Amino acid sequence: MKKVVLALAAVAGLAATGVQAQGYPTRPITMIVPFAAGGPTDVVARIVTDNMSRTLGQQIVIENVAGAGGTTGITRAAQSQPDGYTIMMGHMGTHGAAPALYPNLKYDPTKDFAPIGLAAGTPIVIVAKKDFPANDLKGFLDYLSKNADKVNMAHAGVGSVSHSTGIFFNSVVKAKPTMVAYRGTGPALNDLMANTVDFMTDQIVNVAPQIQGGNIKAFAIATPERSPVLPNVPTTKEAGLEGYEVSAWNAIFAPKGTPLDVVKKLSDALMKSLDDENTKKRLLELGGVIPSNTERTPEALQKLVESEVARWTPVLKAAGATAE
Ligand code: ASP
Repeated sequence: MKKVVLALAAVAGLAATGVQAQGYPTRPITMIVPFAAGGPTDVVARIVTDNMSRTLGQQIVIENVAGAGGTTGITRAAQSQPDGYTIMMGHMGTHGAAPALYPNLKYDPTKDFAPIGLAAGTPIVIVAKKDFPANDLKGFLDYLSKNADKVNMAHAGVGSVSHSTGIFFNSVVKAKPTMVAYRGTGPALNDLMANTVDFMTDQIVNVAPQIQGGNIKAFAIATPERSPVLPNVPTTKEAGLEGYEVSAWNAIFAPKGTPLDVVKKLSDALMKSLDDENTKKRLLELGGVIPSNTERTPEALQKLVESEVARWTPVLKAAGATAE
């Protein structure tokens, strides 16, 4: 008898999930952005979810849960109900660099998520405050080597993109600036514009408008080609720096266990959004890179996460990045 009751309960449970998934979504969806509002991950999230909300017929509400380089928000999202009503925008830091820096990380980027899809590629730009006493990368590196103890580098917390690409930069150029942590590079950019912090390596979508407006300096972009939105900013290689090419990415994940049909609905909505002229225009204007059709799938994202964890772990260990 007990067995029968249990079996019935299981069927009822399955049916309930099935019904819920079928009508999904019947209420607003929360997307956790693990950094402060106004920064690169927040900007990408707001751009792509705008069109997704329309496709899904329900609002995707952004909730900024900042702290510990994005790992606080991602931990919370990973542990939430896998019902499609809590999803997250992760990135190269939270799902690539963090495992090398947090031995006690509460999630495994390769195992604890249902990947939805890549939202945007975000090249890294080396930027400095407007008053920085150097006008090009060569002058900047020269200044860094002579004034090691005077320079501050802003970042968005241990394991974030700006932190890991910053640590990598410091190891390549052998600099040791004082590291200053923020809850995201949105607030870090404000301090850069106020001339109260010296430099950072940040995602293009955050800094492009301020570079274009002359409010901060850009010394180089760390990609093999220049960006169409920053035609005057040289690549690191052009500016004479070898061995520092790095690009970040932002991507949507759901917690592991999210029903497959829900994953498919979200992933289809993301694909549709990335084909939408307005979404594309807004991402491209900021220097974002739109993923190709094959790069947008959940399977491709799973592979990307695995390869990024494998790529960043040795780089950060070799750079002697400090653990938590
Ligand atoms: N993506 C973060 C933000 O949105 C910054 C970072 O990872 O460096 O603020």
